[in-house]
Amino acid sequence: MKSMLRFSSAAKVAALLSLLMLFAATSSVARAQAPSGCWDSSSGPITKIVALDPGHGFNDSGAVYRFASGDELLEKNVVLDIAYRTRDILVNKVGYRVCLTRMDDSTNPSNTERAQYANSVNANVFVLIHLNGSSDPMVNYTKTFWGKKSKDLKFSEWMYSALYPAMDDVDWDGVRDNEVSGNGVGQFATGALLKSNMPGTLTESVFLTNSREAERLLDTTTSGRRQQIADVIASGIDGWLNR
Ligand SMILES: [Zn+2]
Repeated sequence: MKSMLRFSSAAKVAALLSLLMLFAATSSVARAQAPSGCWDSSSGPITKIVALDPGHGFNDSGAVYRFASGDELLEKNVVLDIAYRTRDILVNKVGYRVCLTRMDDSTNPSNTERAQYANSVNANVFVLIHLNGSSDPMVNYTKTFWGKKSKDLKFSEWMYSALYPAMDDVDWDGVRDNEVSGNGVGQFATGALLKSNMPGTLTESVFLTNSREAERLLDTTTSGRRQQIADVIASGIDGWLNR
């Protein structure tokens, strides 16, 4: 056994070279990926890294609401917009790097790829952004999910507290409207949470398939529902990282 571990100098050099090449290849992949998906605060050294995962994408629409006009509201598009709004809020604070698992509608990364991406950027927290769906257009509640209890449960509870009852203030005037109920924190064994290393949660802020909510989610102004959801997610993340 001992003699097998004794390499010739040539073999040592070859082994070292291939190791270096592997390292170079790995890190160049990481470098090529990171700048395209990440944005940094303009002020302060980077101390807080956030991975945001807009759900679905490309051939997977997620929840769909069909208006009487025939127009469709697709979860994949709304959550991408909410992710960008959340990014904008966070990078306007000091010391943030915000990375998105997908930046447009050209891809639908697998759950494993989403987790690997969050790991590759060394994110401190990982937030999966979804909107819920039901065949009943009256249903509307807030829920968050954890995947791996030991790392995700506390963060999922924290983000739930940020989202609810805030999401029940549907017109964002500081008063509850008794339209959105609170469904608490549940377990969802998605690979995106199970295979990522940091505290993570899957947020289902509201139901995109609720008829009133679908109307509200059409508003793309900075006083609309999408902005409110982003605002709440961002303040939850910021509170957790500064707790
Ligand atoms: Zn979804």
